[in-house]
Amino acid sequence: MHELSITQSIVDAVTDHADGARVIGIRLTVGRLSGVVPDAMRFCFELITEGTPLQGARLDIDEPDGRAHCASCGDDFTVPDFILLCPCGSADVRLLAGRELTITSLEVA
Ligand SMILES: [Zn+2]
Repeated sequence: MHELSITQSIVDAVTDHADGARVIGIRLTVGRLSGVVPDAMRFCFELITEGTPLQGARLDIDEPDGRAHCASCGDDFTVPDFILLCPCGSADVRLLAGRELTITSLEVA
């Protein structure tokens, strides 16, 4: 379960950044094509933060769809899953978004 190591990295980054302040909320952007399962992340977050200053912090996760641009027809289209094909049938596409995995905001007390 790679969510555990990813969540650990996020918790480490947040702890560093907060520099001793009490963190009450964290917002993440986890693209649908990132390969990370948000529910697993929430579960890991509770495990990892237990007994730390981050315990009880709210974890909000935005899950934007993937977006891609087709070089054949010129359209931008949504990529809801891992199948990177334009509706026109072309595979000559470039992924624009969907693999993000970032901390977008922190709320400290
Ligand atoms: Zn196309």
